Amino acid sequence: MAIQSIGHFIGGSAVAGAAGGRTAPVYNPATGEQTGAVALASADEVRSVIANAAEAQAAWGATPPLRRARVMFRFKDLIEQNHDRLAECITREHGKTFSDAKGEVIRGLEVVEFACGIPHLIKGEYSPSVGTGVDSHSMYQPVGVCAGITPFNFPVMVPLWMAPVALACGNSFILKPSEKDPSAGLLLAELLREAGLPDGVFNVVNGDKEAVDTLLTDPRVGAISFVGSTPIAQYIYETGAAHGKRVQALGGAKNHAVVMPDADMEQTVDALMGAAYGSAGERCMAISVAVPVGEETADRLVAGLRARLETLTVGDGMGSPEPEMGPLVTAEHRDKVAGYLDIGVAEGAELVVDGRQGQYPGSAAGGAGAAGGFFIGGSLFDHVRPGMRIHAEEIFGPVLSVVRATDFEEALTIVNEHEFGNGTAIFTRDGDAARSFSERVAAGMVGVNVPIPVPMAFHSFGGWKNSRFGVLHAHGPDAVRFYTQMKTMTVRWPGGGVREGGAGSAFVMPTM
Ligand code: NAD
Repeated sequence: MAIQSIGHFIGGSAVAGAAGGRTAPVYNPATGEQTGAVALASADEVRSVIANAAEAQAAWGATPPLRRARVMFRFKDLIEQNHDRLAECITREHGKTFSDAKGEVIRGLEVVEFACGIPHLIKGEYSPSVGTGVDSHSMYQPVGVCAGITPFNFPVMVPLWMAPVALACGNSFILKPSEKDPSAGLLLAELLREAGLPDGVFNVVNGDKEAVDTLLTDPRVGAISFVGSTPIAQYIYETGAAHGKRVQALGGAKNHAVVMPDADMEQTVDALMGAAYGSAGERCMAISVAVPVGEETADRLVAGLRARLETLTVGDGMGSPEPEMGPLVTAEHRDKVAGYLDIGVAEGAELVVDGRQGQYPGSAAGGAGAAGGFFIGGSLFDHVRPGMRIHAEEIFGPVLSVVRATDFEEALTIVNEHEFGNGTAIFTRDGDAARSFSERVAAGMVGVNVPIPVPMAFHSFGGWKNSRFGVLHAHGPDAVRFYTQMKTMTVRWPGGGVREGGAGSAFVMPTM
């Protein structure tokens, strides 16, 4: 199979990587074949993209918000028309099932829809007569050049958490996608150009640490949005802030679901199967720890999950019939996840279901080390205790750990003492327990009988503790604040009556 060269998108055109420049391999995780070689931009290449974006921003920032919104409306239409194409692009490089990839596109589309309302969102505030003849109003102006550095697990949705709002606010944007699945970002750039976005306002620069460090330190970049693992999020936050930028950096997670004795067990098992094993567990909102309250609840939960895992289908995400779970993104990541199964057994947890035992299409005999696709089945640990590495660390694969608690207070303590606080959920029929949990749990996004409580696009998304660095969350109202700077005017007009033929008579409605 021919290996495709994957370059950048700069100044309104697809651009090849520099001759002789560094590249990284891109794989189809379902077959294990290398399908692409992505260019890794040098610092000089990134600096020239920044110059381009800075130049384009001046005119775009001065474009009336209503016209910027119209580009977003056209972009929304184009995403809908290219829904399958975008989803296929995701599945071919990430591995998640086609249905899951289609769902990802929808979640990104919703942020574009939110950004279509930008004239309303940046209306500002107004206070008449703050003094005699004095009025005060605020306006929200663009930051300038903004950059987004995104993870492999949502190659369409996460860039769309950032770029639509940043662009609609009048900024230019440089996307640095994950080098593991870079093609979707380039497709989004083509659609934005087709939607009428002026050249240079949205750019994609592929690369690794060298590209990221250039974005973090160049004084022409005003804001950095990052989504990825916690150590890198912290590095991005500290380095960007030290270079005078506003930074929002969303990091890793270990999301707990508390299961109360009165929960509807069938619904809970169903919800946890989707939340733990959907997208092969490669979701920052995946439930990776279940905390059943009471031994009987735990026994019923483990029995239900074990039965469902026995029939979980795993295969090529583009396959027909479609499997429930695809492969992991790379062989290294699959091996890392498999390694955690050994770690958990050595720590004394009970490996109830071992995902290495399955027979998967594309693998010789199934199992972690087999040739072919990067497959591993769903795994389940019971009798996991806080302090074990499989509980403390983010595995980011299809592994669910059961940590048994004796009562609600112990369950809440287990969740709250964890270093991460992205999402969490409680399954119960008891309103008091649900309310107490919602109020006292230390996490940014909380579900009651909802396993993956991802806020809608018109709310904001973000965790607590080591799951987020910086103040403002992603998309929704927080994003409008993040991608704009507020200017507050205090205006005094001396009294004395209205002069005939004043400036007001010259006002003309803008034509669209
Ligand atoms: P990652 O941190 O390895 O990479 C994210 C981005 O940072 C990529 O673009 C990568 O090129 C860049 N990067 C990697 N190492 C770097 C370095 N040393 N210096 C500068 N840049 C570097 O994350 P990933 O493996 O692509 O994604 C999975 C992680 O993302 C998981 O930890 C997951 O929980 C997290 N995630 C979090 C959220 C959230 O909303 N909190 C959402 C999605 C994913």
